[in-house]
Amino acid sequence: MNSSLVRAYVGLGSNLNNPVRQIRSALTALDAIAGTCCVAYSSLYRSKPLGDMIQPDYVNAVAAVDTRLTAHELLQELHLIEAEHGRVRTERWEPRTLDLDLLLYGDQRYEGKALTVPHPGLPERDFVLFPLHEIAPELHIPGAGSLRHLMERCPPPALQAISAAV
Ligand code: ADP
Ligand code: MG
Repeated sequence: MNSSLVRAYVGLGSNLNNPVRQIRSALTALDAIAGTCCVAYSSLYRSKPLGDMIQPDYVNAVAAVDTRLTAHELLQELHLIEAEHGRVRTERWEPRTLDLDLLLYGDQRYEGKALTVPHPGLPERDFVLFPLHEIAPELHIPGAGSLRHLMERCPPPALQAISAAV
């Protein structure tokens, strides 16, 4: 645990077992992590799956949290919440009840075996950039530039806003 609070951003995704309910439940669970509170969350968006596997569309959102946990501690809590929501880890980009990615941890840049921040997929994923912009339009991504700049470079988004989160 840190003595000071760090602003972190979490990407949420689900395409199984009532994805909207999974995302709403995960937002509540994020706020319940020790030493962590959820300070903002985006609308929910519907997006097309990555990869070639035929699978249902995803529901995505992004949450901002203030946390006293280290980045590794926070990722561990995210994995626990995924498991509580019935996620079974099999293949990359497989259908999942819940995927929680640590997108940003303050302005930290770190590359390790179990954790990389900023999340390496962030700069090109419309389902991350657009919800992030909704809650933090002035954000700067360490090592990748301003969020606005990344959005301009992104292909036209294939996203559909489906509702306010709660
Ligand atoms: P993806 O989210 O790319 O579909 P997974 O959720 O299955 O993939 O995560 C694969 C691995 O990525 C996990 O074992 C996790 O430790 C690692 N990982 C590295 N950096 C991060 C991060 N910033 N957020 C979430 N997982 C991460
Ligand atoms: Mg993940």
